[in-house]
Amino acid sequence: MSDLPTFAPPVTPETKPFWDATAEGRLVLPRCTSCQTVIWYPRTFCPACHTEGVEWIEATGEGTVYSYTVTHKGDGPWRDASPYVMAYVELDEGPRVLTNIVECDPATVTVGQRVSVRWDPTEEGPAIPRFAPVG
Ligand SMILES: [Zn+2]
Repeated sequence: MSDLPTFAPPVTPETKPFWDATAEGRLVLPRCTSCQTVIWYPRTFCPACHTEGVEWIEATGEGTVYSYTVTHKGDGPWRDASPYVMAYVELDEGPRVLTNIVECDPATVTVGQRVSVRWDPTEEGPAIPRFAPVG
C-alpha cells in the first residue's frame, strides 16, 4: 500500500470484472476470444479484429516501465504525495497501462525497469493497481 491518494474507480458494465478482481488482489485482463489479443482498456469488442467476444484472463501482474514522468508539485489531493511517478507500464501480456510507480525513490525509476503490481485499497471495495520495482 502506497501513500498516494486513492479514489473510487468509475465502475461500468465493461470494467466490472476488472474491478471485482482487484478487490481480491487479482489482476485480470480482457482477451479477444477470436484473435487472442489482450485488450486494454476493457470493452466488449476487440479493437484488433472487431470481433465481439472477450474473455477475462489472469495476468502475471508483472511488466516493464515503458515511459514515466516525475511530478514534483502535485495539485489537490496529490499535493502531499509529491514527488510521485506517473508511468506507462507495459504488462507482460502486452497492454500498456497508465499507473504509478511506488515503493521506491522516484529518481531511481528507469525505462525498461521490471515492476510488479501492488494494490491500494479504496473504501468502496475495488483496489487501485500500482507498480513497484522488482528485486
Ligand atoms: Zn480480436
